[in-house]
Amino acid sequence: MSQSASTSHLLPVFARADVAFERGEGVWLYGTDGERYLDFTSGVAVNALGHCHPRLVAALQQQATRLWHMSNLFKSPDGERLAARLCEQSFADKVFFCNSGAEAVECALKMARHYHFSKGAPERTRVITFEGAFHGRTLGTLAATGSAKYLEGYGQPLEGFDQLPLGDLDAVKKAIGPTTAAILIEPLQGEGGVRSPEPAFFRALRELCDAHGLLLIFDEVQTGMGRTGELFAYQRLGVAPDLMSLAKALGGGFPIGACLSTAEAATGMAPGAHGSTFGGNPLAVAVAGAVLDVMLQPGFFDDVKKKSLLLKQKLAGVVDRHPRVLSEVRGEGLLLGLKAVVPSPDLIAALRAEKLLTVGAGDNVVRLLPPLIVSEAELDEAIGRLERACVTLAGHAAQQEAV
Ligand code: PMP
Repeated sequence: MSQSASTSHLLPVFARADVAFERGEGVWLYGTDGERYLDFTSGVAVNALGHCHPRLVAALQQQATRLWHMSNLFKSPDGERLAARLCEQSFADKVFFCNSGAEAVECALKMARHYHFSKGAPERTRVITFEGAFHGRTLGTLAATGSAKYLEGYGQPLEGFDQLPLGDLDAVKKAIGPTTAAILIEPLQGEGGVRSPEPAFFRALRELCDAHGLLLIFDEVQTGMGRTGELFAYQRLGVAPDLMSLAKALGGGFPIGACLSTAEAATGMAPGAHGSTFGGNPLAVAVAGAVLDVMLQPGFFDDVKKKSLLLKQKLAGVVDRHPRVLSEVRGEGLLLGLKAVVPSPDLIAALRAEKLLTVGAGDNVVRLLPPLIVSEAELDEAIGRLERACVTLAGHAAQQEAV
């Protein structure tokens, strides 16, 4: 039951597809058109455990009868426990809870500035970022994102960001100056087209940060919580950051974000330095705890890696069979991109006609983000649907060539 922009009361800031959903279960979304759709968007990397996972539902129901909210002025044993578990699983010593990806990145940016302030270097405020990045839509994270297409109409971007070509180490070395505070990067760009430089680039960034006293910030809002086949993508790079943003899959669909920090990077952070009314909300914390419970079961990530390999192989086969439609498979884990030869919106529409939901990224890429709990049979089902969409589009392409 879609409504046109003129009749909807929602701000028309999303190009909403002509399909509506009211219910989800596992990897499936049920449309108001009576159809069942295979959801390879996962709410854009959020529903990592699929829709309405029974463990998450139970955690939410249980918490709903205990406590919904209390001020961050009081101690929260549940929040402490979740923070301790995230630290146990990562490089971090401290966690700040917030409500979204942009807020988690904002927190990391503020902490980087505050770190240098507390070390007697308040002039160190600038942050090096990279082309193709996506860090959010608040004014600060928008400036960090830096792309004209997101900035247009919002006036001067906030000062303090130096955006460089992705993977260009010489440019990074040149850009580091006496006012540089930090380097901010996604281990694997999601919105930017499922792209990443070599692991050696991240190791070099780590060395440069250490040599110049800078903080290394990884934005793992999209890659974190299992998406690339490890709990955190940095674990596969062999490089740990000083600060890391998380959100999306952390709450499995319940809004929660987090900024993870080393004790050193948290130097000087004291009561009142930062805050959030809803951050660490008990309902969100309960669901995030259940997400961790499920993901930390033995074999969970091995299974994700196995399915990733399988899906990549099958996708490569489709690319080979349909060179008029697709040219490349990219990505890690279950954050995969198909570089399209046809306009990617046409492919996304053709896939939707086959009841397979995907989302675009970067320069003509179609992103596949299945829930991590997807079965091999469901992957096969998706490949069949992709194959059919490619046959349709290849037919159109051939017809156009013939005209
Ligand atoms: N960082 C990255 C890497 C993201 O992919 C996103 C969302 N696509 C964000 C930040 C912003 O997250 P949110 O929409 O929750 O503010």
